[in-house]
Amino acid sequence: MALTITNVKTVTCAPQGRQQLIVVKVETSDPGLYGWGCATFTQRAAAVVTAVEEFLKPFVIGMDPQRIEDVFQAALTSSYWHSGPVLNNALSGVDEALWDIKGKLANMPVYQLIGGKVREAADMYSHASGETFEEVEENARKLIERGFRYVRAQVAVPGYTGYGSRARSKAGQAIWEFAPYVRIVPRLFEHLRKTLPEDVELLHDIHQRIPPIMAIGLAKDLEPFKLFFLEDPFAPEDIGYFPLLRQQSAVPIAMGELFVNPAEYVPLVKDRLIDFMRVHISDIGGFSVARKLAAYCEFFGVRTAWHGPGDVSPVGHAANLHLDLTCHNFGIQEGGYFNEAAREIFVGCPEIRDGYMWANERPGWGIEVDEEKARRHPWPDQPLRGGWAPLRRADGTICRQ
Ligand code: MG
Repeated sequence: MALTITNVKTVTCAPQGRQQLIVVKVETSDPGLYGWGCATFTQRAAAVVTAVEEFLKPFVIGMDPQRIEDVFQAALTSSYWHSGPVLNNALSGVDEALWDIKGKLANMPVYQLIGGKVREAADMYSHASGETFEEVEENARKLIERGFRYVRAQVAVPGYTGYGSRARSKAGQAIWEFAPYVRIVPRLFEHLRKTLPEDVELLHDIHQRIPPIMAIGLAKDLEPFKLFFLEDPFAPEDIGYFPLLRQQSAVPIAMGELFVNPAEYVPLVKDRLIDFMRVHISDIGGFSVARKLAAYCEFFGVRTAWHGPGDVSPVGHAANLHLDLTCHNFGIQEGGYFNEAAREIFVGCPEIRDGYMWANERPGWGIEVDEEKARRHPWPDQPLRGGWAPLRRADGTICRQ
């Protein structure tokens, strides 16, 4: 009998604090055969669950799970209006689950299905932040001691909140100002270059928080410190500034975690305006489309740097990793850690050792989700249900996060 999709469901949990993880389980007419995919969009999590349960589930039941691209294209176009993080995350959950199923059918890890390893493990960067330069330095040293060779450094701006630092301004509000930030960041890297081992690679994320011309100035100021990359200098709406930045600075640029349509990368890559493609894979529709983007980038010398902090489920990290292992134009993998609760729920999640992320040899993504244990770590009760509180300037103006 033909293999068909018989059920689709979401499994939700929050084993690592406030991050509301969502994975999708696709079941088939073969009772032991099912797959898992990442659909995590922690700021609008309940909307993704609805998109999966109410729309994708009835749409794909009865389809052939082996026809991954066909199911993807059919689901993508079934809403007529498509793209956007909610629908793309829902689609990613199904798409990645079908790749997991494909791997189980072949009895191979996904990385084998798409060509096999070109490297043994994925070199990672992790985050060091702090209230002072010394605290950032100390946290960077801890990462270096754990084997990391790449460190992203962010520092608090005294009196203000800052991205990558937990500090709040004196009044306890999240107040952000551009000028103090662009003054302090070059001094942080001057400090780190004087104190940390010479061979450590340093990264920094502007997080689209300053006016474009200030980002260009900051890129120039940071040039002496030889960053591995400078991330998100502009918001997605300001990509027209990239040619100006490129003309004035040779700092390697990483961009794109906020893009939600794969076509958004095309002009930046084609015109060689970025060096690293940052993609939150589930936000653009999942593994199938990320794979195409990675191949496109290879022809332009652009390397991958998949988005991988705590708001990616371990299944999503596995999808990142299987591309890292197989793409010649891999650049670096962002990653943090998986606590004990996460590892108990996502059995077989990638291992982090000596600053590398390692895959296991099991079929598909190599991850089994313990649904009972997931239920023990429900989403927390949060006033904004995962959404972010407003970020304002001192005069009350709303800022990009
Ligand atoms: Mg970022």
